[in-house]
Amino acid sequence: VTGAERGYVQFRYEWEPGTAPAHHAVPDLLRWRDRLHRAGLIGVTPGGIGFGNLSVRGSEAGTFVVTGTGTGHHATLSPEHLTLVTGCDLDANFLTCRGPVVASSESLSHAAVYGADPAACAVVHVHHLALWERLHGRAPTSDSAAEAGTPAMARAIARLLGDPAARAAGLFVMGGHREGLIAFGASVAEAAGNALAALSRS
Ligand SMILES: [Zn+2]
Repeated sequence: VTGAERGYVQFRYEWEPGTAPAHHAVPDLLRWRDRLHRAGLIGVTPGGIGFGNLSVRGSEAGTFVVTGTGTGHHATLSPEHLTLVTGCDLDANFLTCRGPVVASSESLSHAAVYGADPAACAVVHVHHLALWERLHGRAPTSDSAAEAGTPAMARAIARLLGDPAARAAGLFVMGGHREGLIAFGASVAEAAGNALAALSRS
C-alpha cells in the first residue's frame, strides 16, 4: 500500500550534494546530539530504524541545519552528518537540501516549529515511549489524528504553537507519533536541555 493510497502525501526531497554546512552553532549541535544519543533519546530501533534528529535555524530565512537521515546508529556525529535545508513546502511534504547527506525525513516538523515560533532557534526531535505516554495530554500535545511525517503533522504543530503557553513550554508531545516529542529553544543547549529535563523528571 503506497502512501498515496493511504491518503498521505509522501515525503520527497531534492538533494544537492555539497560540503558540510557552515554555521556557528555546528559544534553545539554535534555536542548536544551526542549527549541525547547517550541518553537514549536519539538512536536506532532493534529493527535498525534510526530515530531522533536536531536542527538549528540558519542565517537565511527559511533555512536550517539538520542531522542527516540514517545517522541514528552513530554514537558520535561529525559535520559530514549534517545538511542545510534550503527550502520547504509543508503541504507538499517536500524540501530541498544541500550538503554531504540527505536531510532527515522528519525535517518538515522542524520547519513547522521554526515557522510557528520566531523565537525558536533550535529544535530537537526525540523518541521515548515512557516519556511520551506520561506527558501525552498533560504537556502540550499536538492533534493525535496527525501522524508522523505528514503535512497534517506540520499543520498540527503550527496550530499547537499558535498558543503562547505551548511556545513557552519549550516542549510538546507529538500526539499522533508514538514515542515522538519535540523540544525547542533559543539555543541548541536550551532545546536539548528541555528534552533532558523532561526525561530526568520522569
Ligand atoms: Zn520521530
